[in-house]
Amino acid sequence: MKKIRLKKLGHLYATDEMLCMAEQDIPENKKIGWQRVEPVFQREVYLQSKICDGILMVAIYLARDLRLGSKKPLYEIFIDKSKREYLTWDTVKGKWRTACVEALEFPHYYSYSCAYITPEEDIRLAEYLGVTQKGMKGIYQYQQSILEERLENRYKKETSLWEAAMKLVPDVPKDWLRWVNRHGLNENFIFYDYSKNVKEGFCTWCEKIVPVKKARHNTYGTCICCGHRIQYKAKGKAGRLCTKEEQVYLPQKYGDGLIIRQFTAQRFYQKGEYKTPKIMCNETGRVIYDKNLTDTQYYYGRYKQRGYRWIKGYPSYSFFMDTTIIN
Ligand SMILES: [Zn+2]
Repeated sequence: MKKIRLKKLGHLYATDEMLCMAEQDIPENKKIGWQRVEPVFQREVYLQSKICDGILMVAIYLARDLRLGSKKPLYEIFIDKSKREYLTWDTVKGKWRTACVEALEFPHYYSYSCAYITPEEDIRLAEYLGVTQKGMKGIYQYQQSILEERLENRYKKETSLWEAAMKLVPDVPKDWLRWVNRHGLNENFIFYDYSKNVKEGFCTWCEKIVPVKKARHNTYGTCICCGHRIQYKAKGKAGRLCTKEEQVYLPQKYGDGLIIRQFTAQRFYQKGEYKTPKIMCNETGRVIYDKNLTDTQYYYGRYKQRGYRWIKGYPSYSFFMDTTIIN
């Protein structure tokens, strides 16, 4: 907004009605915060507005100043809805401010509902701004929407490049989860029905009933069919169980380079459903190497309180620590 143009709009001085209302509003001493006691008015703030040359001008007066006979506004807020811009003139400091109404200083905290504005002006203000709230809250709502929009645009500049990079990531192989289950998750079990002389059990690697000798709940052994290290689990005692979280890596072609994708995987067994575990496999990190082997890191995380997404860079914790690469 051009300041010279705004200056030409002139000032909005308090009306006689406002002076009269403030004259009758005798402040009462009230506790402000922990210790301070200050005179508090029923209506701390008065508002007046006009639309001039397509620009909304809102003047804010303090009850205290009106009682002292000053018609000058403390602040004049100018809003140009066609350009979605606002600027405030600070009369005390004699300068322009870019702060939103929430950040302007007032002698002490007051509720927006203690701001006086005529009902007609209130409607005009909300109509001009296209907001649902009234008075000061309406101005705040409008300015917040502009701030939000500016932030969104700033973030988009950054995230659109990331999104373009992520679009080139190929799908995981069709049998990926099965591979993760068999090769990425190293813990396996033999579930057996408890008896004095256990002869067989279900091996989670073989996915079939296998012969068992000397099975004892929670002890380790080797499956005589597949040779994998297993832990014996008596079905009656096992309950719900899960394997420990493991890191699994998937290298793939990426353009004329390479991508290494990191997943955190785990296997969950519901009580009694030991043949049908659920495989959890969440992708947490991606490293893209171009043809010169220059790497760019991405991680899946929370972005600027705007939900979860792929973010360029490193998370606050390192996801490449304490892991085993599986070929
Ligand atoms: Zn086996």
